[in-house]
Amino acid sequence: MGFKCGLVGLPNVGKSTIFNALTAQQITASNYPFCTIDPNVGVVPLHDERLEKIREIIGSEKAVPTTLEFIDIAGLVKGASQGEGLGNQFLNHIQAVDAIAHVVRCFEDENVAHTSETLNPVRDLEVVITELILKDLEIVERSVGKLQQAVKSGDAKTKEKLQILTKINDQLSRGVPLKKMALNDKELDFIREFNLLTLKPAIYIANVDEGNMKNNDHAQQLKSFAEKENEPFVAICGKIQEEISQLDAESQEIFLQEWGIDELSLNAVVRAGYEVLQLNTFFTANENEAHAWTVPRSTPVHVAAGKVHTDFEKGFIKAEVIKYDDLVRMGSEKEVRNHGLMEVHGKDYLVQDGDIIFFHAH
Ligand code: GDP
Repeated sequence: MGFKCGLVGLPNVGKSTIFNALTAQQITASNYPFCTIDPNVGVVPLHDERLEKIREIIGSEKAVPTTLEFIDIAGLVKGASQGEGLGNQFLNHIQAVDAIAHVVRCFEDENVAHTSETLNPVRDLEVVITELILKDLEIVERSVGKLQQAVKSGDAKTKEKLQILTKINDQLSRGVPLKKMALNDKELDFIREFNLLTLKPAIYIANVDEGNMKNNDHAQQLKSFAEKENEPFVAICGKIQEEISQLDAESQEIFLQEWGIDELSLNAVVRAGYEVLQLNTFFTANENEAHAWTVPRSTPVHVAAGKVHTDFEKGFIKAEVIKYDDLVRMGSEKEVRNHGLMEVHGKDYLVQDGDIIFFHAH
């Protein structure tokens, strides 16, 4: 399964618009037999110029990009954790994602209703984060209740769990998201099992005005917020991106130039998701295809092999690894070998971003 990013935000901030733009470049479901594609889920390719370069040098017939899944999660309103709007149902959807992409409205448009009278991205974001905190609190409170029963006849371990949960419970009730709590590794390992929402990595997407994309004060406020959180920020004009995404590649170029946009900001959104999830890309390449794959950082090469084919993991013998830069510098796989730059690794080698790997298996 791929890594999932959930688009989350108040109503009318542009979640569906951005989702549509992202999924206009959707990879057809038939390429991904393992995911059940529903209308709110889009499998979006990660643009990576290294892939095309590898395809060219190796002479592969086609290039297959790696992907990230985006999910349009509708229905978050103030009070959702108490059952307002679609209530808890959508909070469950957020539980299923690996990262949260906060979409925040930074565009003014009288024709599009806003939940408040004024535009204030940080306030809006705080409404959303409060709902996430309240949902986490509900889960933690429930577990504290259970543990308080269990601890009466329980062992030291149960007592310790209760202590950790009580500490977390106190901080959540004071409005502190999990990410901001000073927790040690043991506490973090324990709390990870609960899959809580305010521990998930996040990216912040400012949906800006088509008339004021570059110097948008609202977007700046959101950017400062993201910087304090040390998490990625992307400014994007959902409406224009949606229009561009309907065009063919050539017209896209012209359109981007006309609007003075450097690149399809959608790419920046996908990259931000990739970054916050701490993922690495490795490549495989032969005459048929050059293929980009995604693994979490610090993945051992035999586990990465299993991404490509389960047999590669089971029967793993060794991995021959070429660094992307070496391939480009040498101009061919043969030259890389001739210069002794092909590394041979056993199963515990940790895959690095940009590795081109040739697996050998029984
Ligand atoms: P959601 O409720 O967050 O999914 O919001 P939607 O994507 O459905 O957008 C709500 C309305 O805002 C729609 O009418 C969109 O066309 C409009 N909208 C979305 N992005 C922009 C934008 O960047 N500028 C303007 N002016 N309108 C936008």
